[in-house]
Amino acid sequence: MSADLPVPGSTERTRVRRLADKTVVDRNVLNAILDAGLVAHVAVITDGQPYVVSVAYARDGDRVLFHGSTGSRLFRGLATGDSTCLTVTLIDGLVLARSAFESSINYRSVMVLGSCVVLEGDEKDRALRVISDHLLPDRWDDIRPPTKKETAATLVLALSLEECSVKVGEGGPEEAEGDETWPAWGGHVPIREVLGEPVPDELVTDQPVPDYVRKWTR
Ligand SMILES: Cc1cc2nc3c(=O)[nH]c(=O)nc-3n(C[C@H](O)[C@H](O)[C@H](O)COP(=O)(O)OP(=O)(O)OC[C@H]3O[C@@H](n4cnc5c(N)ncnc54)[C@H](O)[C@@H]3O)c2cc1C
Repeated sequence: MSADLPVPGSTERTRVRRLADKTVVDRNVLNAILDAGLVAHVAVITDGQPYVVSVAYARDGDRVLFHGSTGSRLFRGLATGDSTCLTVTLIDGLVLARSAFESSINYRSVMVLGSCVVLEGDEKDRALRVISDHLLPDRWDDIRPPTKKETAATLVLALSLEECSVKVGEGGPEEAEGDETWPAWGGHVPIREVLGEPVPDELVTDQPVPDYVRKWTR
């Protein structure tokens, strides 16, 4: 478990060099970022061409789970154990410095290096539920269970959080020397993610929006 894993950013290839003051070594922060995110970006190289694929994911202990079609050319490389890099980025705000150079974005960001393993059988079934529970808490028990055919068409991958790094940028701008007197407004503008009002589809007649949907928060 976590206690046996290397500290984030502690391997040669995960040591943050650029703006190293943004490094976070606490695995609780790593977990909290992954639990707050919905989308990961996963790198695959096919025939020498890099691709970055967006996927829904969930953290399951010390690994990240995600799924794709068994027919996906890009996923097949991951399934055979190709090295990959997965990132999750949460955007927290815009940082307005008195120069473009020092202006930036506040963020919480995770990078994971490694190779995926394919999950099968009960582990695969459980993983599908874990991913659903992360994206749509409490939804799984309300919906039709997957058929054997649907499950067979789905590739479920797990990537260990063993080798990873975390960077967090927060607060206001750091000005370049001399810019303190430049007469532009400076500061930061927080960005927050909110869920909108649920919109029923045409099959809903008099069904109220379930409580677990109403209570979803981000
Ligand atoms: C929303 C957002 C916007 C950004 N915009 C820019 C931009 O416009 N220009 C720019 O140069 N940089 C930007 N960054 C920072 C960028 O992600 C990299 O951190 C930086 O460019 C890496 O510099 P480097 O190649 O010298 O990496 P190094 O510091 O040499 O990277 C070494 C190791 O640090 C870790 N690492 C690096 N970056 C990250 C990260 N973001 N999260 C987690 N671990 C990391 C990795 O394990 C990597 O292998 C942005 C980051 C975020 C999240």
